[in-house]
Amino acid sequence: FFITFEGLDGSGKTTQLRRLAAALEAEGLRVVTLRQPGGTALGDRIRSVLLDSRTESELGGIAPTAEMALMFADRAQSLAHVIHPALAEGAVVLCDRYTDSSEAYQGAGRGLGSERIRAMHTAVCDGFQPELTILLLPPLEGSLARARRRNERNVRTRGTDENRFEREGDEFYRRIYDQYVEIARRDSERVVTIAEEASIETIAERIRAIVRERMA
Ligand code: C5P
Ligand code: MG
Repeated sequence: FFITFEGLDGSGKTTQLRRLAAALEAEGLRVVTLRQPGGTALGDRIRSVLLDSRTESELGGIAPTAEMALMFADRAQSLAHVIHPALAEGAVVLCDRYTDSSEAYQGAGRGLGSERIRAMHTAVCDGFQPELTILLLPPLEGSLARARRRNERNVRTRGTDENRFEREGDEFYRRIYDQYVEIARRDSERVVTIAEEASIETIAERIRAIVRERMA
């Protein structure tokens, strides 16, 4: 069973993914977790190129189409090396971001358009989609504030921001938010949206209930 987590930076998806993994493991299931970009040796290298703030000065920036292609190169590797093998062995695979992120960030955020992302998804991933996507989409202002606070903390403690995406302005994130809403509307069978602000515990319980029902 393949489940992806989606949402803006600061939406809590990594926390919720870990909670769900622990809960499923406690029920005796084998769980494989990964994030995109990352999750394979090649993916971790791609991730560091894509996210490192020094990329701007060292590489003179990354063209939006190059950013898209690198995201899909990472995805291709994790499908081949992690996701498909784990699913073949009967594991539950939980992935922190997948192609919906590319449609939201590169398609809408960078303005490349959904059509191009979907064509890449067909060409590179054979159109392979998760059975279930948990979309954490609390009001935009809260996510942005959390992501910014985290970023400022990183700048203070490590002298650099966590990643270059966190330097983008509110408009960039508004486009991403709106695209996620559109994806959920279009793919309402696969995508379950959790839009309310609630405690980590409350959201974790809701996700457990959704997953239990879908996996039954
Ligand atoms: O979720 P995580 O913090 O690991 O994502 C890393 C960064 O990569 C995020 O800031 C996100 O904005 C960016 N990203 C992206 N396009 C993707 C996947 C992630 O811009 N397709
Ligand atoms: Mg992040």
